[in-house]
Amino acid sequence: MPELIEKYYSLKELWKDLPKLDKSRKYLAGGTDLSISMAYGEDDSKVWVDISDIKELSVIEERGKEIFIGACVKISEFEKNPVIKKWAPALTESVKYYASPSIRNTATIGGNYANASPCADGVLAMAAMDAKVVLNLKGRRRILPLLSIVKGPKKIDLRKDELVEGFLIAKKKREALFFKMMARKRFGISKAGLCICYQKEKNALKEAAISLSSVAPSVIRAPKTENFLKNRIITPELIRQACEIIKNEISPIDDIRSQAYYRREIVSVFLERALGKIFS
Ligand SMILES: Cc1cc2nc3c(=O)[nH]c(=O)nc-3n(C[C@H](O)[C@H](O)[C@H](O)COP(=O)(O)OP(=O)(O)OC[C@H]3O[C@@H](n4cnc5c(N)ncnc54)[C@H](O)[C@@H]3O)c2cc1C
Repeated sequence: MPELIEKYYSLKELWKDLPKLDKSRKYLAGGTDLSISMAYGEDDSKVWVDISDIKELSVIEERGKEIFIGACVKISEFEKNPVIKKWAPALTESVKYYASPSIRNTATIGGNYANASPCADGVLAMAAMDAKVVLNLKGRRRILPLLSIVKGPKKIDLRKDELVEGFLIAKKKREALFFKMMARKRFGISKAGLCICYQKEKNALKEAAISLSSVAPSVIRAPKTENFLKNRIITPELIRQACEIIKNEISPIDDIRSQAYYRREIVSVFLERALGKIFS
């Protein structure tokens, strides 16, 4: 355990006190990743700065043409929140695949992002909705495309003390499907995942945004497949071709969770299932 856990309830208090804390300080949200890092001896910070009850970080609200999701919103909130269900259906779809109910009640969306895991389910869902991340350092904000600062497993380009304040998602009509392959039916980390957000028009896809997890060092999009599908009449032959394109668009690796060849196959199976479901 760190020597000290310092808890804050507002950003104003946080920015005022932060310079007084030991330089090794680290933010603590739900602690579901941080506690594992600590258990494996990967965290040597002397102070954890508990942000989980900062009120500005715990809201979900409509802001003009976008919705804002605070970094400390718990994953379980995505299941029933009406704003999320209406404007960010990929997050609602993702919840049932996300760990166990007890983890979902503790883990936050900001922690899921800042931990920069290639298998992060919340990031997978937000990436398919073209989310932006809002960063805050002592009141100075940067708003960036979601995946632009995620560089690889546990590697994210945050400045010292820069806080993930939340995420912005455009209020746009979209439907979503979420797929995740695990070693077990539930409560597992993904071998590969696919999320598709789409707008359908008769028998074509007016728009399709596809994100993938666990097939690259970070969550990625599949732009070649997206472009191939856009505004095309969906036929069995077109689905077959799209599945080939997505397989060749990724470069997964073998690791303890799965093998590269299987990851390619399962991603194409997910796409086939998604298109089959959308046009059934
Ligand atoms: C048993 C178990 C099962 C799991 N299953 C899944 C799963 O199915 N899918 C999945 O995606 N993940 C899973 N996880 C991983 C984890 O639960 C998620 O990544 C979770 O969302 C992390 O959020 P947290 O609030 O617990 O983060 P924390 O552990 O508090 O923080 C994680 C990291 O992010 C930093 N951080 C946190 N918040 C901020 C912020 N606002 N700004 C800047 N930095 C910040 C912390 O300093 C730390 O480095 C699982 C974990 C466990 C232990």
